[in-house]
Amino acid sequence: MTVTVVNPATEETLATLPSAGVDEADAAVGRAKAAFPAWRAVSPRDRGRLLRRLATLVEEHHEDLARIESDNVGKPIAGARAEVGMVADVFHFYAGAVDKRHGETIPVAGGVDMTFREPLGVVGLIVPWNFPLNISSWKLGPALACGNTVVLKPAELTPLSALRLAELALEAGIPEGVLNVVVGKGSVVGRRLVEHPDVAKIGFTGSTEVGRSVMEGAAGTIKRVTLELGGKSANVVFADADLERAAAAAPYAVFDNAGQDCCARSRILVEKSAYDRFADLLVTATRGVRVGDPRADETEMGPLISAAHRETVSSFVENGVRTLFTGDTPGGKGFWFPCTLVEATNDERIAREEVFGPVAALIPFEDEADAIRIANDTPYGLSGSIWTRNGARALRVARALESGVLSINSNSSVRVSTPFGGFKQSGFGRELGMHALDGYSEVKNVFYSTEE
Ligand code: NAD
Repeated sequence: MTVTVVNPATEETLATLPSAGVDEADAAVGRAKAAFPAWRAVSPRDRGRLLRRLATLVEEHHEDLARIESDNVGKPIAGARAEVGMVADVFHFYAGAVDKRHGETIPVAGGVDMTFREPLGVVGLIVPWNFPLNISSWKLGPALACGNTVVLKPAELTPLSALRLAELALEAGIPEGVLNVVVGKGSVVGRRLVEHPDVAKIGFTGSTEVGRSVMEGAAGTIKRVTLELGGKSANVVFADADLERAAAAAPYAVFDNAGQDCCARSRILVEKSAYDRFADLLVTATRGVRVGDPRADETEMGPLISAAHRETVSSFVENGVRTLFTGDTPGGKGFWFPCTLVEATNDERIAREEVFGPVAALIPFEDEADAIRIANDTPYGLSGSIWTRNGARALRVARALESGVLSINSNSSVRVSTPFGGFKQSGFGRELGMHALDGYSEVKNVFYSTEE
């Protein structure tokens, strides 16, 4: 069995790799288990130094990693460069975090009570194809900083950057067995990690559907899980907002990474009194998105990941959908799909399901209460934006939205040092920032009697 890795912009084969099965997954867990006692015993200072060396190597191989990611995902090289920059920053952050998660002493009678943060052991990390290296680093940084060893399973479509990162980890001096990458099918290797008795935790990012099966599979061994799942986020634009700014930014909040972004603000909610003006501005801004060769510095949007995924995305804009704008794509090879704006109500399929492609639905609302009601009328709760010049309203709405990661007068809500994760069926647990360390360690309480 092999995995064929394809460039989605050219349909050329980039690599053909052996596809691991259950035996290879078990062997990787075995290596991680064997490496755990020594890795947890590495002093915090040295663990921090090793992570910092990995961060520095990522910086030194910045262009090489960005090209691997751009070719494998079809993402524009400028975006891939920014993502690799974030990967280095993530390892720098967790290098510094190793000795900054402290225990507590708790007043009790008859002695001293103290808490420790213990590593979990072997953790299985399962990641999707849309931001392969970035999302891997969000899990690897805190997992390794806490003293765990890791089996990382990249998506079958995009394993190349994870394999390169594992080589860099060895070069950085991180011992053999601490970071293991296994390339194979989710239903085989992923499933095995979920059920394996020696895997203490699964850090999963992917679809809500597979997340549900991960949660079920983990029940057999009461495995810890964190789930970063799908989204259907709202970009809420009030009539008193800076409409020009909001409209200029909105395309990039949904067409970035060709819409294959769990944080995509794919429902654009606009107050009725500003709807027509905003729609005009949005069409103009969307016309300006530069779609084309991912290797070109100026390109802003590339193709979708695969032919099969393009079929799925297409199914959202077939019959009955009210299309406001359809952009251009390059002809020829590649899994291209145009930037598409549609008008909708919140109960249509386009507004309910995650498209994971460059399609946004414009939905009008009456007033603040209506905006909150529509924004929350979804099973998801990952991200979202609020555009208004009224500061009190901005905070009122931010508190009322059932969503884990919000931005006001901005669509930017993912940062190395701040918590990221979902409400509702977008998952649970937090990545990034100091919060992520909670998901990769267990609290131990020790009472020490002072009586003799
Ligand atoms: P997916 O759920 O199909 O696959 C994700 C990973 O799970 C892959 O590595 C896959 O091989 C593996 N997998 C598949 N079946 C499995 C099983 N039965 N057991 C264990 N592992 C299994 O998702 P995808 O198509 O790769 O990615 C797109 C989805 O990911 C979207 O829904 C998107 O919203 C979500 N996503 C969420 C976040 C977030 O942080 N919330 C970030 C990026 C992507």
